[in-house]
Amino acid sequence: MKASQLFFPTLREVPSEAEIISHQLLLRAGFMRKTSAGVYTYLPMALRVLKKIENIVREEMDKAGGQEILMPIIQPQEIWEKSGRWSLYGNEMFRLKDRHDRGFALGPTHEEIITTLVDGEVHSYRDLPLLLYQIQNKYRDEIRPRFGLMRGREFIMKDLYSFDLDEAGLDVSYKKMYKAYKAIYDRLGLDYRVVEADSGAIGGNESHEFMVLAESGESVIVYCQKCDYAANVEKAECGLEKQEPPVNNQQEMIKISTPGQRTIQDLVDFTGRPASEQIKTLMYVADGELVAVILRGDRELNEIKLKNVLQCQDLFMADEMTVREKCQAGFGSLGPVGLNVPIYADLETERLQNFTCGANEDDYHFTNVNLGRDFVPEIIADLRNAEAGDICPVCGEPLYTIRGIEVGHIFKLGTKYSDALDATYRDQNGQDQAIVMGCYGIGISRTLAAAVEQKNDADGIIWPLAIAPYQVIIIPVNNKKDDQVEAANYLYKELLNQGVEVILDDRDERAGVKFKDADLIGIPLRITIGPKSLQENKAEVKKRWDEEILLVEMDHVVQHVL
Ligand code: ATP
Ligand code: MG
Ligand code: MG
Ligand code: MG
Repeated sequence: MKASQLFFPTLREVPSEAEIISHQLLLRAGFMRKTSAGVYTYLPMALRVLKKIENIVREEMDKAGGQEILMPIIQPQEIWEKSGRWSLYGNEMFRLKDRHDRGFALGPTHEEIITTLVDGEVHSYRDLPLLLYQIQNKYRDEIRPRFGLMRGREFIMKDLYSFDLDEAGLDVSYKKMYKAYKAIYDRLGLDYRVVEADSGAIGGNESHEFMVLAESGESVIVYCQKCDYAANVEKAECGLEKQEPPVNNQQEMIKISTPGQRTIQDLVDFTGRPASEQIKTLMYVADGELVAVILRGDRELNEIKLKNVLQCQDLFMADEMTVREKCQAGFGSLGPVGLNVPIYADLETERLQNFTCGANEDDYHFTNVNLGRDFVPEIIADLRNAEAGDICPVCGEPLYTIRGIEVGHIFKLGTKYSDALDATYRDQNGQDQAIVMGCYGIGISRTLAAAVEQKNDADGIIWPLAIAPYQVIIIPVNNKKDDQVEAANYLYKELLNQGVEVILDDRDERAGVKFKDADLIGIPLRITIGPKSLQENKAEVKKRWDEEILLVEMDHVVQHVL
């Protein structure tokens, strides 16, 4: 492509609305333009990157046995009512009506559509397992659309859904996807971590997030340097917007009667761990049982980590709800609690993160929970501070924190949607069984932004080779000199013949402008044809991330690039 023909309207100024670097650079480098809040037009350069990301994702999904389909964006209200999510999804869902006053949503996700599809077409155990995916626009009316493509209201997602005979089958599908996701992020050339996550509103009991590491990331990850352990500590949203809990559940909550009071010091004696000065925590204990943990103070600084809780149901005496259901109903840190302090628990069967214990009046009780037997509390003075000395639940080493961008998320759904939407198969004994499901998302457009957020310097973007819009840019220093233009054209044609994606900067600009633009748009390899080197029949070859300039014989340049 000749730069004179290429539509990449660059900006000299940093756009004022762009807070983070990827947003600024993608606007400045002419990759995209805003249409309305959280909605963007992708210009040619961005579209090339998106296609490359999509293709890597597509190849790995196909390799893992996935089959690509394309589902509609417009989804009927009816199926969302069947799954119970029409009311649960809240304001994040874009809703519309047709001329007959029938309700529709712009799909924020596609479980309802695909489960209905599979229900209609899969009848026998012989039809399973089935892995179906699409790469499609998604619509979420985010409360705070921001950071450009990072949190859009219209964005591109790859979503795969697995359908299996049973839990064992789901396990196999889940592992396949886990592996495929790692292959994808390895190929993309990004630093990332896989973290244990809470599956929030979507349900199920196993979930991992794929996090591209970046300072501006909205997620805080605690990780261990010794073993693989990593977890997301920001689970407050439970995947849903904040909601008030249903009144009847609130009434069933039992007020604390202060059966016995122990301070954090007692707890520390019990576990043999040093107390944090900052934590003012009251433990309520009755008959040797811990019935409540009350945390007081700065919500950001004071957090307590519970691990090895055997049964999450044991945490409540209020009613029959599970922790997850409560979380979804708006308890936990979203509840009516005055003091929102998250408690993290690593559960055997379910993973609870961010359940909140509150101040005096509205305290939630833990019952039938035995300190020591059921969990070992650990004090985390400040999760943002690596020196805080939180301990890895796997190997006991200190945990550190780091920030990341959630680019992928995989969940085991179980039978949540197949039960609600009646998706069954007939087993070998002629019995109807619920199909066991999983779902697996990758934010394609967010991954593009995350790559820029991670790979940049003061001069602009540094694209990893695998997803660069073009791999090479050729710059003749002076466009008025025939020998330079000739040499540049020669290399341009040779590289094109070899299938290299190359830009020839044939614009009538000063060399400095061309170099600045090449750096800004982040092309991995720059070939400069200047008067001095050309005299020796050489070209200057420079990698975007390197200072070093190599002088390469004109006849060897193509070989060098390949
Ligand atoms: P977040 O926690 O950032 O709101 P999510 O957990 O709601 O994301 P999922 O429902 O897990 O998102 O969707 C799968 C993937 O889709 C996410 O991992 C992310 O990469 C991408 N994604 C979700 N919301 C957005 C958005 N508003 N803009 C761009 N990408 C998004
Ligand atoms: Mg999330
Ligand atoms: Mg979200
Ligand atoms: Mg998610």
